[in-house]
Amino acid sequence: MTSMTVHEAAQALREQVVADRRHFHRNPELGFHEYDTAAYVAERLRALGIEPQTGVAETGVVGLIRGATPGRCVLLRADMDALPLTEETGAEYRSERPGAMHACGHDGHTAILLNVAEVLMQRRDEIKGTVKLVFQPAEEGPGGAKPMIEAGVMTNPEVDACFGLHLLNDHPVGTLVVQGGPLQASADEFELTVEGVGGHGAAPHQAVDAIAIGAAIVNELQRIVSREVDPLDAAVITVGSFHAGTKHNIIASRAELHGTIRALKPQTRAFLQRRIVEIATQVAAASRATCDARINTLYPVTVNDNAMAAFARSVAEKLVAPEQVITAPPVMGAEDMSFFLNAAPGCYIFLGSANHERHLDHPHHSPLFDFDEACLPLGIELLSQLALNYLGQ
Ligand SMILES: [Zn+2]
Ligand SMILES: [Zn+2]
Repeated sequence: MTSMTVHEAAQALREQVVADRRHFHRNPELGFHEYDTAAYVAERLRALGIEPQTGVAETGVVGLIRGATPGRCVLLRADMDALPLTEETGAEYRSERPGAMHACGHDGHTAILLNVAEVLMQRRDEIKGTVKLVFQPAEEGPGGAKPMIEAGVMTNPEVDACFGLHLLNDHPVGTLVVQGGPLQASADEFELTVEGVGGHGAAPHQAVDAIAIGAAIVNELQRIVSREVDPLDAAVITVGSFHAGTKHNIIASRAELHGTIRALKPQTRAFLQRRIVEIATQVAAASRATCDARINTLYPVTVNDNAMAAFARSVAEKLVAPEQVITAPPVMGAEDMSFFLNAAPGCYIFLGSANHERHLDHPHHSPLFDFDEACLPLGIELLSQLALNYLGQ
């Protein structure tokens, strides 16, 4: 029982959420190695009276808050992993683990969700239904959302809606990006191995030059996005590595090309995957070589359900001034919240976290990344209110 509003409850947890965030920040762990983080999360949930399920997809943690009356189930998700970077911020709470750093803000996400658990437990008697708290590993790769779903996170009880947030230094603290439709791109990798015939650099007619054919493939791949995709539909094909050859006067028999594929529509994603394979194999064939083309599918497009986004916006507009609830162009980075959003409708929200005066505005994944912790109570309030309002509908 509590007489506090959700806003007051979130503000009352300000010091605690900052302390939690700084604890995680000092102790970053890479994907699927979030053992200490998961143990901290599990212990805190237990202290709140929530018996956590641990070791889900290795290091994932799930907590259930069963409300006073039966109803729907809403999933709230936070990612817990850090990045392989050495921190250069010089902050008092900087990473104490060389080679690992919370440079994407996932320390903030985990701290926010832990404190959401506290706010919701205080108001358990007014909850109609169930809140499923999901602390997931390895968002930065290879991805913890999919194995958690495969482990049954969307069932028992069946999840009706899911919400999550990501801090974003593109926007100032106090703003919220809430919108329907595609928010982040899909990400897939391709690996092309061109097999020609090696020979003497002075006798090309006796060889099949894998470098010349690999270069032709790179050029042809550039025409997929520029000539075959609607210019208003964002897509990217990047060849990020090209390895072949050993010496000036030897014709290389093999070339290996690796790259990334991004799209904002599932149909475009499938089209790019298909055309890369067709072009690579057919350019090689036309040049008397072969090409083994492999696509590794990673994360789908992150798509917010329009009705859920409208609902989230109505909640957000009561927490901050309506003009602080903004929309922004989608980004071509990928996010495995997409798997949850494909399994149940929901909305992923960007929580503005930059403070230009305090120079807390370096880009994510920079060794100088840090954010304004004033965004944390707003994050607590937002996720708590989304869960309460969704279940109360
Ligand atoms: Zn990241
Ligand atoms: Zn991230």
